Amino acid sequence: MGIRLANTWMERARHMKTPDIRLYKNDLPDGLVFKDAIAVDSEAMGLNPHRDRLCVVQLSGGDEICHLVQFELGTTQAPNLQRLLEDDKVVKIFHYARFDVMLLKQALGIRVNPLYCTKIASRLARTYTDSHSYKSVCLELVGVQISKVQQSSDWGADILSEEQLIYAATDVLYLHKIREKLNIILAREGRLGMAQACFDFLHTRTDLDLEGWLDKDIFAHA
Ligand code: MN
Repeated sequence: MGIRLANTWMERARHMKTPDIRLYKNDLPDGLVFKDAIAVDSEAMGLNPHRDRLCVVQLSGGDEICHLVQFELGTTQAPNLQRLLEDDKVVKIFHYARFDVMLLKQALGIRVNPLYCTKIASRLARTYTDSHSYKSVCLELVGVQISKVQQSSDWGADILSEEQLIYAATDVLYLHKIREKLNIILAREGRLGMAQACFDFLHTRTDLDLEGWLDKDIFAHA
């Protein structure tokens, strides 16, 4: 099912382009092909993956299309999504990959790889600021003002609102551009290797999170 959402007052207010949103249930359709990198985000009922179910996964190939998969209660497998997210020829770009990678592991048994996290990249590149939220990097690196108002909303609803769909799409539409900008700074500052090592560590970090060390820094002295 493809939906072309109409312009709304909220988008016009923020000078955003209308995203082209394709909505699916429980898995991606057969035959979708992506190039070398896809932007990925997810929405859940809350922040505890042992309690809160996965509701939505959003993907974008770096064009203005957002593929949005909505999950019904009890879904434990999504073979097409799994194939794509585990495809070692396609980099998966997240903002704060730690949460989404943990959630996808817990909910669907997917080990997302290879990874790029724009939040980690921003922390290593933009050492002149403490603002590394998606909203902050969008504003500084892409020049767009986004809204996080729908972040706390009922993502388990059978029918998602137009505001939720647009919010969900917004969370993946700028990640390619952000990665490109951050890589320029990381290369200039000699930190691309350190960034890659951090991305590679995300699997160990999310395994620790799921197995009981979520709020512990195992490298800390005390
Ligand atoms: Mn999101």
